[in-house]
Amino acid sequence: MKREIMLLCGASALFAAGCLVGRNDDQVGNEALARSAPRAQDSLPRGRTAAPIIDGVYPASYFPNTEILGADEMRITALGTGMPNQTRAAVSISYLVELGNGDKFIFDAGSGMLANLFSLRPDFSKIDKVFASHLHVDHVGDFMALHIASWLSGRYTPIHVYGPTGATPELGIKAFVNAMQKGYAWDINTRTGALPDAGGQIEVHEFPFMQENVIVYRLNGVTIRSWPAIHSLDGAVSYSLEWNGLKYVFGGDTYPNKWYMKYAAGADVASHECFLPPKALAEYFGWDLSQATYVSTRIHSEPAAFGKVMSTLKPRMAVGYHSVLSPENTAAIMDGVRATYDGPLTLCRDLMVINVTKEDIVVRMAVVDEYVLPPDVTDAYKKAPRSDDKSPSAKVLAGKWKGYTPPPMPKKPGN
Ligand SMILES: [Zn+2]
Ligand SMILES: [Zn+2]
Repeated sequence: MKREIMLLCGASALFAAGCLVGRNDDQVGNEALARSAPRAQDSLPRGRTAAPIIDGVYPASYFPNTEILGADEMRITALGTGMPNQTRAAVSISYLVELGNGDKFIFDAGSGMLANLFSLRPDFSKIDKVFASHLHVDHVGDFMALHIASWLSGRYTPIHVYGPTGATPELGIKAFVNAMQKGYAWDINTRTGALPDAGGQIEVHEFPFMQENVIVYRLNGVTIRSWPAIHSLDGAVSYSLEWNGLKYVFGGDTYPNKWYMKYAAGADVASHECFLPPKALAEYFGWDLSQATYVSTRIHSEPAAFGKVMSTLKPRMAVGYHSVLSPENTAAIMDGVRATYDGPLTLCRDLMVINVTKEDIVVRMAVVDEYVLPPDVTDAYKKAPRSDDKSPSAKVLAGKWKGYTPPPMPKKPGN
């Protein structure tokens, strides 16, 4: 059964799998009902309960929060697999990795990923670690949106951001985050006090982009390492995450490189960009063929290059992404990949879910509601220290219209 599910990711069946993504408009009425009903304690709509997977038999589709992740299992969910020019079907790059020990990691936070993350209704108190491959907007464009939204929805501790240096200090992750905090000073000030103080903090962990397979994170049995990638400028990297004998590699954007071939070895799931081939790219953007060839085969990795990498690496599952999978583009990508690689392959699209155990790798689509409720927050979030609320100055408040009187303020909990 699982073999068949993997084959769903082949060219012709890919769009059949895509039909499983539930963006169903008659769920609107259900959401309205749910909003007026008492909230469930487990963040699930009434009628759904979380259950373990028995004997490795998975439902055909993944319904968020309905499956108890096995203690030795990894779940990788694509939150964005497309281009800077987003479509509703494919936003910019991001992956969520969840582990059986309860840890959650975000790899890249490209623009548009937040709605897909929110549609999974995760426990945002655990969404506090982001690893950036490089500072293109299609990889970090939603970072501040993620920071603010997770702070609003349950995160009461600092968010940790890991990323590389650049060729000069102003081109590194630290400078990027500092600039974001300055740019959003007004926003952050309005929320500080109303929301838990610590949740507004960002802790940056900058590491040298040229380091080779060096540990950037180690906690709770999880080890994450980085190595250089070749992409646009100095300061792009790839990551591996190892836990419990499983290895996931997040390639980021890169030309095929010797470090990836060396340090991604032994990956259970190896992801690597698989860009549009030159001709398809030229047609997609309306570029001339020489510009498209340069971008597809010098800045990025065309499908035939991706296939060559994977045919040497031989992961248990090769994951290609960073394209818009229109029927024409998918056919062009598959032709390129299959010219050089005949192993297990997932051309990843948004909200594709990959469950990984030592025995098997199962690829499915998530079914999500168009109108999700925010996930429940924990008591710890409700009780986390908050400084005083901010407000406009007296001269602005003096402009309040006397024709409206707000209701009296209820007592704050605990007062
Ligand atoms: Zn890039
Ligand atoms: Zn990119």
